[in-house]
This record gives sequence, C-alpha cells and structure tokens, in this order.
Amino acid sequence: MNTMEDLPRSQMVALLRQRGIRDTMVLNAMQHVPRHHFVPEDLRWEAYGDYPLPIGHGQTISQPYIVALMTEALTLQPGDKVLELGTGSGYQAAILAEMGMEVYTIEIVPALHEAARALLAELGYVNVHCRLGDGNAGWEEYAPYAGIIATAAPAAIPSACTEQLAEGGRLVIPVGPRGGYQNLWKVTRRGNTLQREDLGGVAFVPLV
Ligand code: SAH
Repeated sequence: MNTMEDLPRSQMVALLRQRGIRDTMVLNAMQHVPRHHFVPEDLRWEAYGDYPLPIGHGQTISQPYIVALMTEALTLQPGDKVLELGTGSGYQAAILAEMGMEVYTIEIVPALHEAARALLAELGYVNVHCRLGDGNAGWEEYAPYAGIIATAAPAAIPSACTEQLAEGGRLVIPVGPRGGYQNLWKVTRRGNTLQREDLGGVAFVPLV
C-alpha cells in the first residue's frame, strides 16, 4: 500500500545516492523503514529532511546521511551480530534489523529505551534486542560482534568496544570533545592490532 510518506522517503534515498552512498542493502533499508515513526509527532512532516531532529531528553535522531554513511562503513552481511551504543529513537537499530542483522542496542535514558523498544516491537523487528544501561561497558554476553556502532561520542574509544569486536570486525564511532565536533573513525580488528580509518568530521551528542 502506498502512503503519503513514500514520496519524501524516495527523495531522501535519491539524495543519499547523490551524496555517494552505494550499498544497496543500506539504501533499500532506508527506503523501507518508516522514519516518520521515529520522530516526535509534531515533527513528522520533517522526518525525511537530511538533518538530525530532537527526540526529547536533549537527544537527537541522526541525520539520514550520517546513518547511511555509518551503516555502509560497517560492511555487514545479513545475519551478522551488531552492537549499537545509544538506541535513542531506535531508527538506526531498525535500519540494521531491516538489513537482516541480529541487533543488540543499549540506551541509558529509561524513557527513550522504553519508547524505542515498544516501537521496534510494534514494527515487527524481532531481531533487535534492547537493553537499558551504560554502553561504555558494551554487552559482553553476546560478544564478539561483527560490527559495533556508537551513535553518541565518547572522548576516547571505550576499551569494551575493541575487546568485544570479532576478528576482522568493524567499529564505527565518533570520538572527540563534548559539545564540539568529533572525528568519525572506522576501526578494524586485525589480530591484536587495530587498523584505523578517518571518515571525517561529525557532530554527535556525548556518550555519557
Ligand atoms: N541511534 C539513535 C541516535 C541516538 S542519539 C537513533 O537512531 O535515534 C544518542 C543516544 O545515546 C541518546 O539517546 C543518548 O541517551 C544515548 N547515550 C548517551 N550516553 C550513553 C551511554 N553511556 N550508554 C548508552 N546510551 C547512551
């Protein structure tokens, strides 16, 4: 069934292609996930603009381009286990779930955790596992992960992130000062060494 959100969502995906996103799994997921359900009711008409939006509690849902860029950088295969730090609205988790990943996501704000968990269940994403807690410790129980994504920025990479990464696994994380601009890093585990790639400047809320 077509809905009134289909056109803006197609336009959003067209813009992502124009901005250089190539991974068809990512583009298809962004074409399917109803982003307007993940933003506050009064901001729904803006849900498909390429910018972040407030989701309450001083937090934001990331802009579509950054979601796409980070997801593409994870270079995942369906069925991979992925850990997300900062569930927020649940949108990023839904994108990963839509791509067929087994998603483990942690949120520290109880109200956001509850809302995201309810919405993801309502939309039928049974492959997302939500936990209330501090993402700095990772989620040991289901480690190691093929991919780890942080959607809030620490001042330095938490050791749990690299410890819980599988051999060849990728960590995509913004790192830098609170309230300032950060660098987006892709860190790949190769045995005992970590290979780092700078993906450019970004602005995220802090990982507290
Ligand atoms: N991925 C989210 C973006 C959320 S913004 C989305 O798609 O909407 C970052 C989130 O990280 C916020 O919800 C914030 O509360 C959360 N956060 C901040 N510090 C955290 C921590 N230490 N552990 C877990 N979540 C944290």
